[in-house]
Amino acid sequence: MDIVIKGGTLVLGEGVFPAEIGITGEKVAAVGQSLDGGRVIEATGCLVLPGGIDAHTHLGLSLGPDLASSDDFESGTIAAACGGTTTVINYAEQCGYASLLEALDAWQAKAAGRAVIDYSFHMLIIDPCPDVIEEMAAIVQQGVTSFKALLAYKGIVMLDDAQLFRVLERARDLRALVNVHAENGHLIDELVAACRAAGQTAPRYHALTRPEVAEAEATERALALAEAAGAPIYIVHITCARAVDALRRAQARGQAAFGETCPQYLLLDERVYESEDFDTAAGYVLSPPLRERGNQGALWTALTAGTIQTVGTDHCPFTREQKARGRDDFTLIPNGLPGVETRVPLLYHYGVREGRLSLSDWVRLTATNPARLFGLYPRKGTLLPGSDADLVIFDPGKRVILDAGHLHTHTDYSPYAGWEVQGWPRHVLQRGRFIVEDGEFVGQAGGGRFIPRRPFALPASLA
Ligand SMILES: [Zn+2]
Repeated sequence: MDIVIKGGTLVLGEGVFPAEIGITGEKVAAVGQSLDGGRVIEATGCLVLPGGIDAHTHLGLSLGPDLASSDDFESGTIAAACGGTTTVINYAEQCGYASLLEALDAWQAKAAGRAVIDYSFHMLIIDPCPDVIEEMAAIVQQGVTSFKALLAYKGIVMLDDAQLFRVLERARDLRALVNVHAENGHLIDELVAACRAAGQTAPRYHALTRPEVAEAEATERALALAEAAGAPIYIVHITCARAVDALRRAQARGQAAFGETCPQYLLLDERVYESEDFDTAAGYVLSPPLRERGNQGALWTALTAGTIQTVGTDHCPFTREQKARGRDDFTLIPNGLPGVETRVPLLYHYGVREGRLSLSDWVRLTATNPARLFGLYPRKGTLLPGSDADLVIFDPGKRVILDAGHLHTHTDYSPYAGWEVQGWPRHVLQRGRFIVEDGEFVGQAGGGRFIPRRPFALPASLA
């Protein structure tokens, strides 16, 4: 073996064990005791876990000719690596292409030679005309086995019910998973028009025009359409108790219905929008918006109850200058927050340390379940002999103050500025190579690979 990691506690979604890990080349070769190898990595006092999988990122998202999310595939994946994530599944927008295949090629070109960690894509569908529905098969053949549909952003990317139903039916036949952004775009536009008419332009109106009921209704509707189509469905960025309830009821009916939430919905709440400082409030503008704090308990409970299976980030950072486009009109504030670097440590600190999650829950939510749902398991999301040697040696004692100056994402603020967390990655390996060593990034642009994913199959176990 080339590398042996000794002395650590192995944390898998399946359980927690004292074990050594042996690595040969790019793969885990052995998990056990008294392994012999070339380089020994001492991990006493540390947790050894599979590299995180963030199934919801928007690196390189273009929102027009002169506006893009501030992380490209290089800066965003460096940030991910430093925070213990070794695979991202990024949203590939149709970006003006009529053909999904051309759009996917364009996204492959954006990532190739830039990404420092492994990556895949979910293919966004904004115009499910017959040609596009037909072309979904070719996308699945390339190993992109999930699609995204939105019920919000009317006139831009929103699908109507008939269109979503067609996408769900086709995905069912192709064994692909449809990820749905569930907010009622019609209702939101009505509320926005009323705010505009009343001269209400501040960031707080972003949240007030995207109320919980808009999410609850669209979640119910998306789940109903998936039920009618007999298709599996994955609801992204669930924020509130009412949407959790809808998902739980669908699961009780026997639907293959899955959900994701994000650290910002577990840890932040709508009071940030009351700030009189535009930059502060605008920094938290994302969709769906942050909610009333009472929802957080329902989200944490849903994570341990198995109602929500994954924690992604919706990583989509913008700088303060970019956010300032909406100084006089909240609808022009680009939507999104940074998060890819802080996901695994925040879930450790506020989940495991504060007693809300077990160690295995933490790894299941941030690595194992995304791998199982999105066709990457057991190559990724676990550390079994034959798995990719993507792993994190996590120091549970290291204290870090979250601050934009120290984080690697290309933006000039952190939504968690000043928060201190305990627990941070010390070393991160991807396919047997160090990409973070003693907290310093040591990987290289282009070191990441596109990972074709298997078709969707109902996981044997998730919760
Ligand atoms: Zn998103």
